[in-house]
Parts: sequence; C-alpha cells; structure tokens
Amino acid sequence: MLKNYVFRMYPTAKQRDRLTQMLADHCELYNAALEERREAYRKRGLSIHLYDQQRQLTAIRAARPEHAVWSFTSQQQTLRRLHRAFEAFFRRVKAGETPGYPRFRARRRFDSVDFRQGDGLKFDTASSSPGHASLRIQGVGVVKVRTHRNLPDGAKLGHITVKRDGDGPRARWYVVMPVECKSERLPATGNTAGVDLGIAHLLTASERIPSLTDAEGHAPNPRYARATADRLATAQRRLARCRRGSRRRVKLRTQIASLHGKVRRQRLDAARKAALALVRHADVIVLEKLQLANMVRRPTPRLSSDGTFASNGAVAKSGLNKSIHDAGWGVLVNCILSKAEEAGREVVFVNPANTSRRCARCGHTAKENRVTQALFRCQACGHADNADRNAALNILRAGTAHRDALAA
Ligand SMILES: [Zn+2]
Repeated sequence: MLKNYVFRMYPTAKQRDRLTQMLADHCELYNAALEERREAYRKRGLSIHLYDQQRQLTAIRAARPEHAVWSFTSQQQTLRRLHRAFEAFFRRVKAGETPGYPRFRARRRFDSVDFRQGDGLKFDTASSSPGHASLRIQGVGVVKVRTHRNLPDGAKLGHITVKRDGDGPRARWYVVMPVECKSERLPATGNTAGVDLGIAHLLTASERIPSLTDAEGHAPNPRYARATADRLATAQRRLARCRRGSRRRVKLRTQIASLHGKVRRQRLDAARKAALALVRHADVIVLEKLQLANMVRRPTPRLSSDGTFASNGAVAKSGLNKSIHDAGWGVLVNCILSKAEEAGREVVFVNPANTSRRCARCGHTAKENRVTQALFRCQACGHADNADRNAALNILRAGTAHRDALAA
C-alpha cells in the first residue's frame, strides 16, 4: 500500500528564488511543448509523441544553458505530465465527450516538479538530527526539511515531488514522497457506522463516535475553518473591486493564495481527524455514493437575447456550492478511504436516493417528511428526529442490508 509522506521544506531566501525559477522554467518547457503539439496538429494533422519531445530536450538544453541547470529527468517528467494531459483528452474524445483541449499554464499556477530519488534530487535523513532532513536539488542546493514522522524502516524512495503551495514570498514548499507501507490493522470492534456528510455539520453518524461526535452523532464543522473561509471570501470580494495591474491587486492575490492554502490545510486536518476516529470506532463505515464533481459544478450561465447573462439561480445555488466546498466532502471521503485501507476496515457505499426522505422507524418515504433543513417528522408514524441523524440511520440500514445480501 502506498502512503504519501509530505514534509515541509524551509528554503533560504536565495533557495526560494531558485525554486521559483525552477518552476518558471518547467512551466515554460510545458507550454513550449504544448505549443509544438498544437501547431503540429493544427497545420499538418500530426501528433507528436512523448519520445520525440523527450529527445529534443538535449537540443533545448544545449541551446538554452539556463534550462540545462535543472535535472534532465525532472524535465522529462514535466513532458510526461503534458503527455498524460493529452492522453486523458483523447480518451475523453473517444468516449464521445467534449473535453477542453490541454491548456497553457500560468506561471503562478504551475506549482510542482517531479523527480526520481537520486537523480537530480536526493532526500536524506541520515545526516540530520531527528525531526530534520535535507533535500539536495540540482540547481537549488541543499534545502532544510522538517519531518514530523519517520519513514518506515527500509523505505524505498522513488518518485518525489517538489511542490509549492501559494504564491509569492508567503508560499510554502513541500516535498511529497509516496512510500510503500504495511497496513496497520486495528482490532475488530463489532461496530458499524452509517455516516451522513453534512453542511450544517461536518458529518452525522448513526451513533456516537468517541472523540468525534456528540451523543446525537453530530461532528461540528471546525469553527476556525469557517473563520478562514470568511476571510477568504472578504479578500475575494476586495480583489473583484480592484483595478487591474494595481499593486494592491498583486498584494491581495498573494493573500488569497495563502488563505486558500490555509483553508486546504485546515480542511485536510479536520478530515484526517474525523477519518481516524471513524476507523478506530467501526469495522464497517457506510457512506452515501455522492457524485461530488456534479454537485459542485457551477450552473451554466444562460445568455439572454440582449447579450447579457440572465439569472439562472446561480446566486442562490452558489451559496450551497460554497458550503459543499467548505465541508470538503471529497477530501473527507478520500481520507476515510485511505485510513480504512490502512486499518483494514471496510467502507460500503450506498445509493443516496431517499435517505433524507425515508422514515428510519417505519420506512414511510415522502418529501413532506423533511419539515425543514434540520427537522424530520414522519407524516405516517409521527417519528421526529434531527434530519441528518435520520439520514445517517437510513444509510446504516442500507449498508447493513447490502452486506447481508452479499453474505447470503
Ligand atoms: Zn415513520
């Protein structure tokens, strides 16, 4: 089982400039290779293969010495990344979809470079004190790294990514290493938990989960994450009012990038803690199979006859979109899946249809049962409960039925 080890790098100001330059040069390479593919296709209907472009690297490095300071292998990896974007594009075309053609990347959005350990980059813990490591990067130097946990004994390092989070001097730098790990199975508890992913709450479970939920099964959304999200929204509103090219705009953009990073980190932190509490408590975790990508899609703007955009409910809907983003369901589900795999737990996905309309006591299903966002009251038997809790119980039941059917 592969597990990502992510450590923060602490480059000096000089190293930070070099790292930024490294990303910029890789971005240029990516865009130049994309340009070549586009032109060849547009003018001559040719498709250029990855190996052709990788072969040209030697010539590029000879002609442009500033590119030759970076690791050859890492540049090959960047070309490979473009290649994968094209493969995904053609795969989707073949499947009858209408994907966007691979796009040029902006410098400040191009934020990672891939390496192979020992080839233009070397991660080393042996010569540092505990909690520290060093990362030698070709063209940058030896960068300090803090390690909050040890790699497993005898870990084999292969693919390593250097990654920037944020923009400008406030950007954080990370080294990301997938490492093969043994799973650490937890003892069986005999518990099964149904989990409803929420907006008002991070999640609601069908029973109390120690160190995560209250007696009703609710796990609150962390308040600090809400506060950061508010600050982010304010900064974004200010940016929208800012003149293009102004110094204030640049400053705001840096601030927004750093707040985005903060929201991401806080969300991930909350998701990890929740996932850990869940797998400790339950052998089987039942979740709804949600189409997350579809749920957060923006409503398509409708162009009216006078050329302006007509109202399409986007304003009302964007509030919900934001909440969904905030709760970070995708992040949470991924965390639960990976922690469950580590611990040897089972995750069952059930059909979400009617889980919020069905009565958990008598099974009566009607949309009127959902009195308000928070309150469920069955129109048939009068059973009243918190709506999320009622849903969590339905999810649990559907998951148990599904497993029983498999066992029979
Ligand atoms: Zn009922």
